[in-house]
Amino acid sequence: MEKFVLGAKRPLIISGPCSAETREQTLDTCVRLAATGVVDVLRAGIWKPRTQPGSFEGVGLKGLAWMAEAKRLTGLPFGVEVATRKHVESALEFGADVLWIGARTTVSPFAVQEVADAVRGVDTTILIKNPMNPDINLWAGAVTRFLNAGIPAERIGLIHRGFSYFGHSKYRNPPMWHMILEMRSRFPEMMMICDPSHICGCRDYLLEISQTAADLRYDGLIIESHICPDKAWSDAAQQLVPDDLEALVRRINWRKDATDDPAFKQSLELYRREIDQIDAELFELLSRRMKISEKIGRVKKENNVAILQSSRWGSIRDRVLSQSEQLDLSKDFLKVVLEAIHLESINRQNQVMNSEQ
Ligand code: PEP
Ligand code: MN
Repeated sequence: MEKFVLGAKRPLIISGPCSAETREQTLDTCVRLAATGVVDVLRAGIWKPRTQPGSFEGVGLKGLAWMAEAKRLTGLPFGVEVATRKHVESALEFGADVLWIGARTTVSPFAVQEVADAVRGVDTTILIKNPMNPDINLWAGAVTRFLNAGIPAERIGLIHRGFSYFGHSKYRNPPMWHMILEMRSRFPEMMMICDPSHICGCRDYLLEISQTAADLRYDGLIIESHICPDKAWSDAAQQLVPDDLEALVRRINWRKDATDDPAFKQSLELYRREIDQIDAELFELLSRRMKISEKIGRVKKENNVAILQSSRWGSIRDRVLSQSEQLDLSKDFLKVVLEAIHLESINRQNQVMNSEQ
């Protein structure tokens, strides 16, 4: 079998069960996935770090033997999650082509360093999932540990699996796409792979998240598939039978980066000019708004009145949010924009009120 080369195929499609459970389930799933023709790399969890003790924690070494068998039967490379030196050694011994760092491991610099030390000098591919919490520095730090261990950048990929979130969300781990833009600007050459399964936590939104990833020019997807999802020992609600995985992958439209069509270029150019003009006006208006905030700060200072007048802020918020429908802008978006403006405005008033003159 040829050596697996990260980046040789884009989009890269990785699929397999959340966990290897039995030999039959592992082989049936992998063989059916290979038969779809849309899967490039097989996956399975062998050791499962679980949020709650007592949940299924993986079958361990015997699962690696099943994955090695799946590789022989299908001719496809395979990846497993590793979190310790022992995991790395065992996975490599059984011929794993890809090692991935799970979200619960990326949060722990000691664990990441242990894995990085274990792969020092090894010719392998490492995929690093984002940490559970939305902390780009922690994620970037994990990447740097592998770079420092001598794994070349082209053999490291990133997996976006969403971030745990305190509050209500329709997703298990909301994607927070803006965090990914930041990570991509730090490592522009690295493959970015989306994990819709762990973002969604259920089957309903897999297509919508996968399409968004394709539209944002991600380099691949890792999606869980199980021969009988409802009986899965972990992540039952989010796994797809191999046929549905195939249908999903075939429905995704990986649009091209660009085209030379002159009509397309011309209309894009016009719209971009319009956007640039609107941006210029928008920020000019914001600048004027901030100058007025400073004037308010001066008046408040002269009269020794506190900056934050919560009833005033409440009424601004209510007025703007009530226009959500008319403006065709979501309430969530309006809230974020207003809060940013309000914060800057308070800072400006603060500067004025605490300045000497
Ligand atoms: C997994 O891929 O099965 C897994 C445990 O994912 P994560 O580390 O993203 O939770
Ligand atoms: Mn899983």
